[in-house]
Amino acid sequence: MKATIQSLAKQIHAGLIDVRHTIHSHPELSFQEEGTATLVENYLQKLGLKTHRIAGTGVWAMIEGGAGPGKTIALRADLDALPIQEKSDKPYASQNPGVMHACGHDVHTTALLGAAQILVQIKDQLKGRIKLVFQPGEEKLPGGASLLIKAGILENPKVDAIIGQHVMPFINTGNVGFRKGLYMASTDELYITVNGKGGHGAMPHLCIDPVAIAAQLIVNLQQVVSRRAKPILPTVLSFGKINSDGGATNVIPNSVSIEGTLRTLDETWRAEVKELIAKITHNTVEAFGATADLRIENGYPFLKNDEALTGALWQHADDYMGAEHVEELDIWMAAGDFAYYSQEVPACFYRLGTRNEAKGISSAVHTNTFDIDEDALETGAGLLAFLSFKAVQA
Ligand SMILES: [Zn+2]
Ligand SMILES: [Zn+2]
Repeated sequence: MKATIQSLAKQIHAGLIDVRHTIHSHPELSFQEEGTATLVENYLQKLGLKTHRIAGTGVWAMIEGGAGPGKTIALRADLDALPIQEKSDKPYASQNPGVMHACGHDVHTTALLGAAQILVQIKDQLKGRIKLVFQPGEEKLPGGASLLIKAGILENPKVDAIIGQHVMPFINTGNVGFRKGLYMASTDELYITVNGKGGHGAMPHLCIDPVAIAAQLIVNLQQVVSRRAKPILPTVLSFGKINSDGGATNVIPNSVSIEGTLRTLDETWRAEVKELIAKITHNTVEAFGATADLRIENGYPFLKNDEALTGALWQHADDYMGAEHVEELDIWMAAGDFAYYSQEVPACFYRLGTRNEAKGISSAVHTNTFDIDEDALETGAGLLAFLSFKAVQA
């Protein structure tokens, strides 16, 4: 079956490049993926599959195997693009000003369509069933994954496991990456306002200086990571924005706002650390006579790759690609909404290499020059088909 899938992937490769160009040139923002969803529906219907809408612009379809009972495996791709102006002279560059497929979700969607096309052609030898899931809104809270789960995507029939594939521009095209266990971080957004009392910069004793207090607060909060977090448990606390509501060289402002991100890989600690941040914030500003407003916006949970599922898929990837083309991934402190699935059912999120320095393709995701080596589409479609063909038998 490996050779059959590899040759089918080769046959459909040129067609997939065209599909990817269409999606890439017509990117749509999170939860507005109407055109992309329609393209997906048309493609699947041409393959003879019945499509269903879910949570607005989400699409799913089922491939029923003809070789007897087996597991129900879901394959998930995300549909949305980012609010970035693409910088590209390629003919397939974004035609939507200010919107760009800068996270490779065009690639995930195309590769899943390709995998579906392969699986439909071999479905007489396929056991169980494959649920194809095209999910909206990965890049925006509350995350399309959480909405799809609420809408029942993992039920009727019950999904035994879910597989997601994501581009990785730090891995060369022709290679893929796997990691068992903890893989990606939870993420929460922090919004803090320090309220003081403004006045003349020459008379600080008549003011409550929110600038000096905010500076102290940021330093104190770093103690959370350096002294309170378990050294073996990754924790990141970064503040990326600080603003006062006015002020000048000789004017102390009334308030200062600070924005940051908290990331970790353990739900108990995640809850504890938020309480700690609140305590340090209020105690620090109180000591200097100020008050603080703290708002924490909860983001995605941590992503855990099921040990048994991921171990098995890793071996199948070794078989399909050659073990020398399968890398072990490090923990990645970014977040993804695929994490929600991993909290519900055995899940595996692996990486598709898309880098090719010889072709000048090396930009990171979420940058305006991101692109992929399209040779990766053949691997992306073929490997996903092969992994799911194997996973239904397990
Ligand atoms: Zn992204
Ligand atoms: Zn992404």
